[in-house]
Amino acid sequence: MKKIGLDQTFRFSCTRRAQCCRTGPNVALTIFDLVRIAKYLKKDWRELIPTYVKVIVADMVPFMLLRGIRDECIFLSKKGGYKCTIYPARPMRCRLYPIVPAAPGADYVYLDTKCPGLWSGPERKVPKKALEKYYEEVREHYKRIMKYVLEEGLEPEEALEKAIEDIWDQVSLEEVQGLELEP
Ligand code: SF4
Repeated sequence: MKKIGLDQTFRFSCTRRAQCCRTGPNVALTIFDLVRIAKYLKKDWRELIPTYVKVIVADMVPFMLLRGIRDECIFLSKKGGYKCTIYPARPMRCRLYPIVPAAPGADYVYLDTKCPGLWSGPERKVPKKALEKYYEEVREHYKRIMKYVLEEGLEPEEALEKAIEDIWDQVSLEEVQGLELEP
């Protein structure tokens, strides 16, 4: 990983080899990502767990991760080249890649130096709007879940369910369209 400031530029051009989607299905989701994927697939969010998303509980905190088949993301299609089958609703972490966010509010991010498209192609800026949206959602995700766990004494899975139900009606696919790396 290489640390860069928010105003630094970097070169990047996607090689379409989907290395990021084939090297361990470890994309962490917020409740907002989950709702957008469910709406895009026209499914109840409960149908995504555990088939597409696994929930791990550690220290009373529920974490959601995209599932994989061997090391590949479950949403990666290989027909006619690599393709994300939920592209318009892909998680914020996928939208930001090869940028790897730091803690919300940090004045730096990381670049994943394993990405083969890094250091070639056009010069890019850190997409601050997309990054801020991601941080906002991460803050809101943990705020809601921890309120239910710590203040209301719910089990982690129940807290997750309640937090998802709370935001279901507010979340739309449109709000993330165009939030990606700036050309
Ligand atoms: S959701 Fe799409 S972009 Fe993200 S890892 Fe899976 S296939 Fe790749």
